[in-house]
Amino acid sequence: MPRRLLALALLSLSPAALRAQTVVDTTGAGALIAQAMDHSEVMANLRQLSDIIGPRLSGSPAMRRANDWTAERFRAYGLSAALEAYPFGVTWERGTVLLRLVAPFTRQITAHSWAWTAGTGGKALTGPVVLADLSTPDSVAAYKGKVRGAWVLPRPSYPVWNPDGPAMTAADSTVRAEVLRVRGLPTSDTAAAAVRARRQFAIDLPYILKAAGALGTLIDGSKEHALMTMSGSPSRVSPLPNLVIAHEDYAMLERQVIAGASPRVEGRVENTIGRVPVQQWNTVAEIRGSERPGEVVILGAHLDSWDLGTGTTDNGTGSMVVLEAARALAQSGLKPRRTIRCILFSGEEQGLMGSRAYAAAHAADADSIQAVLVLDNGTGAVTGQALQGRPELAGLWHALLGPVATLGADSVRDASKSGTDHLSFLPYGVPGFNFDQLPRGYSHTHHSQSDTYDKAVSGDLKQAAAVMAVTAYELANLPDLLPRGPKREPEEVPSKPSAGVVTTN
Ligand SMILES: [Zn+2]
Repeated sequence: MPRRLLALALLSLSPAALRAQTVVDTTGAGALIAQAMDHSEVMANLRQLSDIIGPRLSGSPAMRRANDWTAERFRAYGLSAALEAYPFGVTWERGTVLLRLVAPFTRQITAHSWAWTAGTGGKALTGPVVLADLSTPDSVAAYKGKVRGAWVLPRPSYPVWNPDGPAMTAADSTVRAEVLRVRGLPTSDTAAAAVRARRQFAIDLPYILKAAGALGTLIDGSKEHALMTMSGSPSRVSPLPNLVIAHEDYAMLERQVIAGASPRVEGRVENTIGRVPVQQWNTVAEIRGSERPGEVVILGAHLDSWDLGTGTTDNGTGSMVVLEAARALAQSGLKPRRTIRCILFSGEEQGLMGSRAYAAAHAADADSIQAVLVLDNGTGAVTGQALQGRPELAGLWHALLGPVATLGADSVRDASKSGTDHLSFLPYGVPGFNFDQLPRGYSHTHHSQSDTYDKAVSGDLKQAAAVMAVTAYELANLPDLLPRGPKREPEEVPSKPSAGVVTTN
């Protein structure tokens, strides 16, 4: 039987049968695991990235420093490395925020700017707080007359449970589930046209509010103990200040409005939006394949981060694990048959911009990409692989993860994961995956000021590097390329306000 047919036949076997007559070359696994577990440099690299280079907002000087430093680290480990540019958009620089409750009593409010939103033009702007529903064009139209001169709460507060209080009863859970269901209604239609219309509406909304005279919007941090969440993108530049505030403050303002206490807020916000679009870069490094250098296994993570903390778990950990997997592969002396390419993307937080640009620029070579393996769920150890709509690969993945079963990384499940760089490759038919990981408090650190080096778990990161290195080596040495996934047009992302919503006042 030709090699390709043999491999396909084996892929259709049950996991047990596949393990019995495996096509997976596990001979390098022991050396790679020993390198990653016993000679790790992942924590030292992560400390440098987190504490010395610091947060890596795409478009900032620190982002470029991180690109240059990682390229240099890859070279020091024996890989070739370069930066690949792509068009990004305008930069954004965070300035100072002062937000105060001035009625019914005075108190500081914990607030930070949403990225790519404007400041208050050097002024402190004071006005009433208005509770609105800005979830749809129709609901915005209903509130247009009520937001002039006001700071706007765009929706009811998020249902945050007191983590130190009694556990939820069944009745509590039912109420909370209903609140979450209602909150999800405006985004429940996932048809492409509906998603695109929502994205356009999100771009247009701050222009509509500005034209209606609003001072700015306030966003619920939605987490306990004043932990923040934030986002933003140069494809959604807002002419109005948009501030994420502590959940505790948001919920209090909401209660004051409902109680008729007429809360008033004073805000002074300084942000700088760049005037001209700039480039950004992905760091790309590789170990050239010994037999099929034109066929490539990609290990990926995003090097950029938000800037309230230092971007340790999102995604310094993933980036430094990819770097560490590269070190383990290079220093093990193993010679993978296919090329293993490590890509540290930028622009991920602004909408997978770096990986989308990379996948588009290399579309002609997509059929020679064996697979893309991304690590982007925090500091937790790898528990296994979600198959991203490719259940026929379960047998193969059980075999690939067999050598790391003793590290607890051998679960294989049929699930599709969203929100990170592997998605950018799927339209081109490339098998793309994001590893499953232990949570390790990722819901707290994610996009918050608490995303700092002290949250990194050393043993977990060593394990993750071992898993990535082993899986990459095995995929590089498989007899054949994996069957392609379905191909489709990459989605278009709107980045400009609709005609008519931009006013000059
Ligand atoms: Zn991330």
